[in-house]
Amino acid sequence: MNYDDWKLSNPIDDGCGYNMVSSCCGDEIMREVPTCVDCGSFEIGEKWSGDEGWTICDDCGAIEQGYKYLDICSKCECECDEIEDYEYEEQQRESAEEMARDGERDES
Ligand SMILES: [Zn+2]
Ligand SMILES: [Zn+2]
Repeated sequence: MNYDDWKLSNPIDDGCGYNMVSSCCGDEIMREVPTCVDCGSFEIGEKWSGDEGWTICDDCGAIEQGYKYLDICSKCECECDEIEDYEYEEQQRESAEEMARDGERDES
């Protein structure tokens, strides 16, 4: 397959055929978001003075604290694992079936 064929057959994604989504909401994942270790805020700003720069937490004002780089769900803004979208759909289907089973038990 030449490059043009490859490109045409994969107009949107990188050719994997699936997307990575958050395991909690099935939504888009923001990768490696700097997160304040002190307060858990994602609002990390950068301040520059000449050649020197500091990272400062906009929420608690912590300067140059350790920052964790987390994968964040763009919907609930929680740390989350990433899974493949079909995997998430499968989980949703399974939990829906489970709920349906539980519902039947409750009614009887
Ligand atoms: Zn989420
Ligand atoms: Zn903070």
